[in-house]
Amino acid sequence: ESNTNVEDQDLSYWSKLAANLKPETRLYIAGKFVDAHEGGRFTNVNPATDQLIAEMSLGTAKDIDLAVTSARAAYRSGSWSKMAPRDRMSVLYRMADLIEKHAGELALLDCLDMGKPITSLLTGDVPFAALTFRYFGETIDKIEGAVTNTSTDALHMIVREPLGVVGCITPWNYPLMMAAWKVAPALAAGNSVVLKPAEQSPMSALLLARLFTEAGGPDGVFNVVNGFGEDAGRALASHMDVDKISFTGSTEVGRLMMIYAGQSNMKRVTTELGGKSPQIILDDVADIDVAVDYAIHGIYANQGEVCSASSRILVHEKIYDQFVEKFIKRAPELYQPGNPLDPQTTMGPLVTREQQRRVQEYISIGNTEGAKQALAASLAPELSAGYFVAPTLFFDANPNMRIAREEIFGPVATIMPIKSVDEAIQIANDSIYGLGAGIWTSNLTTAHRMVKEIEAGMVWVNCYDHGDMTQPWGGYKQSGQGRDKCFETVLAHTQTKSVWIHLG
Ligand code: NAD
Repeated sequence: ESNTNVEDQDLSYWSKLAANLKPETRLYIAGKFVDAHEGGRFTNVNPATDQLIAEMSLGTAKDIDLAVTSARAAYRSGSWSKMAPRDRMSVLYRMADLIEKHAGELALLDCLDMGKPITSLLTGDVPFAALTFRYFGETIDKIEGAVTNTSTDALHMIVREPLGVVGCITPWNYPLMMAAWKVAPALAAGNSVVLKPAEQSPMSALLLARLFTEAGGPDGVFNVVNGFGEDAGRALASHMDVDKISFTGSTEVGRLMMIYAGQSNMKRVTTELGGKSPQIILDDVADIDVAVDYAIHGIYANQGEVCSASSRILVHEKIYDQFVEKFIKRAPELYQPGNPLDPQTTMGPLVTREQQRRVQEYISIGNTEGAKQALAASLAPELSAGYFVAPTLFFDANPNMRIAREEIFGPVATIMPIKSVDEAIQIANDSIYGLGAGIWTSNLTTAHRMVKEIEAGMVWVNCYDHGDMTQPWGGYKQSGQGRDKCFETVLAHTQTKSVWIHLG
């Protein structure tokens, strides 16, 4: 437990806590921390310093099998799947309380693991994770079937039952929050879970699972196996006794999830994948300064490592020069790379050296392609050991450039001029992705027309990335299928049983 009031703390407070932190490194199976079956370990490195945080237990296919067996046994026992809905609700509410109680530790674990600034975690990810358990807790006694009147000599009931064992595979960009988004609806519907967190950021998931036990969750219902994607992840997605995979990650690996399901037991698969989301700023925008700020947040928040990052900024030619100038002036006021343990820091390092190199490679591609580069300030010398990339802008780009088409997943914005609403819609939709889109206009008709035309799972008008738990989160096209958050997600973790009672 720690005092998590951001205003009360400074860098030395969090540095001291970080130095004394003893993170759990093992796997969590059947309500206990255990070493990996083969005894392997992998190194977990702090991306802000390139220093070792911990040696994590390396789960492999055998550990996945043990975790699935434990999850199936717990499911069959009915300890959770048949627990009275009110009691299940209480467990998830207590879970939310415990996340709040352990906010400091959870924030610190994600901060060290993937470099996100501590203030973003304490004001964003951690409270959102608690809210996720509360929201899905509230859905538990609202999962209903139906009775139909189609036949006079029968009573036809449609009953909703859990699926059984759900495998959750999560990315590293919001480690705690993604785990909560995946696990909470699966648990709410009465399933048991095996979570395989991203190998770059496994620590908060382990604490989350322990908190479930502390909240009164039965053993074996929530298991966590750390490990690599091609090994533990693949074993989970290919397992013959897993009923569903709920996946968030890249489009490339999302495709594999569907292949593994097809090659094994044809388990259900839902995927939340990548994006190249546009923000479109028209010349009748009510307040250009507000739109500039949202465009900046849309690409530089979370170091640009956001699935819904608005990496394509389409600006009407009449306000284009003014917009670019304001963007360049304002961005450094909002985002400056710094030590993520410092509560003042607004931008951390990228997650790995490999990700840093990938993003730097895209920056040189942008230059070769002939877009104009701005920002990209040099980094403070004390950040040189970490995997930092300064906020970077390419303007005067065109829609055929790779920097305007491919998901970079880093702090690299691309601004392009547009001549008309039609052209904006055409460019926005010319993508394999369809996750988010933003529209800035003061014309109601234009806004509605664009909302209808744009191929994206989430469209924001005169804002970006706003929402609450009722908002279905997910994409069109290769940004995935299925939705996170929202009531529909709980139902997607159930199956219907039709019961036809003959009355003749
Ligand atoms: P990734 O696809 O590389 O990895 C995601 C997870 O899949 C990790 O746990 C990884 O270990 C596992 N994995 C990798 N290869 C696997 C395999 N062959 N079999 C089974 N599992 C495997 O993605 P990432 O780099 O961790 O995350 C970034 C991506 O996630 C971006 O594309 C981003 O857009 C996407 N994302 C999407 C959303 C959304 O809601 N749509 C949210 C967050 C992130």
